[in-house]
Amino acid sequence: MDLLEKSRSAALKKCGAAVKKDSASFGAFGSGGRIKETVYPCDGLSLARVIGLLKDEKSVVLGGATNVLFPDGDYDGTVIATSKAKDVMRRGDKIYCSAGARLPDVVKKCAGYALSGMEQLSGIPGTVGGAITMNAGAFGREIAELVTRVDAVTRDGRVVSFNADALGAGYRHTQISAKGLTVLGAEFSLVPSSSKEVKTCIDGFALRRSESQPKGRSLGSVFKRADGISAGYYIERAGLKGKRIGGAEISQKHAGFIINTGEATSADFVYLSELAKKAVYDKFGIELEYEVVFL
Ligand SMILES: Cc1cc2nc3c(=O)[nH]c(=O)nc-3n(C[C@H](O)[C@H](O)[C@H](O)COP(=O)(O)OP(=O)(O)OC[C@H]3O[C@@H](n4cnc5c(N)ncnc54)[C@H](O)[C@@H]3O)c2cc1C
Repeated sequence: MDLLEKSRSAALKKCGAAVKKDSASFGAFGSGGRIKETVYPCDGLSLARVIGLLKDEKSVVLGGATNVLFPDGDYDGTVIATSKAKDVMRRGDKIYCSAGARLPDVVKKCAGYALSGMEQLSGIPGTVGGAITMNAGAFGREIAELVTRVDAVTRDGRVVSFNADALGAGYRHTQISAKGLTVLGAEFSLVPSSSKEVKTCIDGFALRRSESQPKGRSLGSVFKRADGISAGYYIERAGLKGKRIGGAEISQKHAGFIINTGEATSADFVYLSELAKKAVYDKFGIELEYEVVFL
């Protein structure tokens, strides 16, 4: 290790971050090459410091990587993984979550706190930071509707706070990425309820999800809805349900999902999703827009 590398490593340690060199990709689809370096800040403050420290280097912030396709080749930058910054704190009828808190865990905690509002989001496997960035949602509830404050860090390491209006939230979209912000944590306003009622609701949504969505490795819906209609509706009618390329398959259960049946590569995923996009355009004249993020 040369002197520069040594001092960088010491600086990251001082930020409260753990470093892993040359590890496997961890995207939910299960494809992708190796990652040169993954940095794990221990909490929100540590995350802000790491962003400031690495501001001139090639890097990307990831939560659960449940919406991200890694490249088949190696990723030669630094992945800043938020998974260790996962505190959830209650403040009256509000909760504050660090960026890396996973939604299923957050909603389970809400049940313990007897606070209602997030139940629809319990089956989304991503983190609070990723969900706010994507304005994730399910069963008629979008995460941005519940946000009262977001703490974020700018590209140059400046911490900023803003309310839900400044998120610029739309369907599966906020201004977070466009503004080069990293979410450190967010506050959500919830409604007092009973633990039993919240748990019953969570179970109900889990059942509905298991009835309509496939199990196995996937990135959830590959495309956004088009004119309010699920992309799977069009893909199925374009005759592609069950279509396979390599190890990737358009789910038999829900044509909006691409499943890794074994050893699928990211190239298989891209080939198949582009095929679906073209088939839908040719049949319906509809240009599907990706929900999945390509690294
Ligand atoms: C089985 C399955 C079911 C799914 N169901 C749904 C669903 O019902 N509804 C839905 O909306 N989505 C769904 N998804 C997609 C996905 O879980 C969500 O989009 C989720 O919010 C992504 O969170 P993440 O932490 O995994 O983000 P990642 O995949 O890690 O990242 C997504 C994007 O957000 C950015 N990002 C991540 N963390 C931060 C941060 N702290 N600050 C700034 N940018 C950040 C990344 O750079 C990337 O651009 C599903 C996925 C799977 C695999």
